[in-house]
Amino acid sequence: MLTGRALASFRKSLLAWFRQFQRDLPWRKTKDPYRIWLSEIMLQQTRVAAVIPYYERFFERFPDVQTLANAPEEEVLRLWSGLGYYSRARNLQKAARQIVSEFDGVFPKKREKILSLSGIGDYTASAIASIAFGEKCAVLDGNVTRVLSRLGAIRGDLREAKRWRALQEEADRLLDRNSPSDWNQAIMELGATLCTPRAPQCLICPVEQHCEGRRQGIAESLPETQKKQGFVDVKLVALVLVNPKGETLLLPPPSIKNPLSIPDHIPTLVANLWHFPTASTNGNLMDAASESWKKINRGKKFPKTFARLQKVRHAVTFRKVTVHGFLVPVNRLPRVRGAENLDLRQVTHRAVSNLTRKIADRALGALNAKQQ
Ligand code: SF4
Repeated sequence: MLTGRALASFRKSLLAWFRQFQRDLPWRKTKDPYRIWLSEIMLQQTRVAAVIPYYERFFERFPDVQTLANAPEEEVLRLWSGLGYYSRARNLQKAARQIVSEFDGVFPKKREKILSLSGIGDYTASAIASIAFGEKCAVLDGNVTRVLSRLGAIRGDLREAKRWRALQEEADRLLDRNSPSDWNQAIMELGATLCTPRAPQCLICPVEQHCEGRRQGIAESLPETQKKQGFVDVKLVALVLVNPKGETLLLPPPSIKNPLSIPDHIPTLVANLWHFPTASTNGNLMDAASESWKKINRGKKFPKTFARLQKVRHAVTFRKVTVHGFLVPVNRLPRVRGAENLDLRQVTHRAVSNLTRKIADRALGALNAKQQ
């Protein structure tokens, strides 16, 4: 455990390193809580490089809490489309509306108040409160716990409530109370760039001399991981119908009154987004495609002419999803209540999931290949 002069030297080294080598990220140029909040939500389960263009587009369209609160949900989801985990976008807008109704449109300054907003947990509340308002609260997430477990050579499952609480206490104790904003960002930056899950770069680490895990030669094996929950394989069949004008049929989000019954797995995967006619199956793909076709074509037989698309694979939490796409040329698209006919190239102009986006790409690729 670092104390006294060693603790002071540890803080100094980490802060100096961060101030010199931090990555140039758009949300680091501001203290605006709205922008910091937006970046923190987008960065959950998502890589920095993937977040940057979304962050910039989203911020350009919704530059403040008011604009976001007043926007149609469909538009918020459309700008989120491709980032995944859409409940984040819904909660973001819900919280923006809360800020307008409960805090007169002014972002709350205190961690406890920030914590009352929809979709904000301990980590995000501490990040916003410390980075935007300089509150003395330490962040703790997967990155930080990894760094702490290596620094202190802490063994065992860090997700256990008792250990997690002890880590939070340790994070609070290490926090540089003169610079909580830089401190929190520094420890997260260390976890994201040098003290990475695999192959930590100890030789160039600014706090190597304080690292007990490194000294004992066990850094790389920490934190000790628990056996992961097994994945569930989900097999889906998606129909991409295309008429001679290049238009396709997109079904509405399940929340909009939809005459079609939605199979078990699909609501969570399309999560209130537009999607191709999709069915889940454990058996024969042709049977599933045919069933799905019959639902939107009043029981008619599946056409003889179609093309199989390259499979789309996608992992969502504990599900491993494989989508088998069928490209089906039709003279006329069926009429389905609530559905839309739109140019296949414009599918991504709608609020769609990454999955739907990938299927549309495969279908366009197949059509282009056919025309060449
Ligand atoms: Fe992580 Fe290595 Fe630095 Fe220890 S010395 S904090 S294991 S990068």
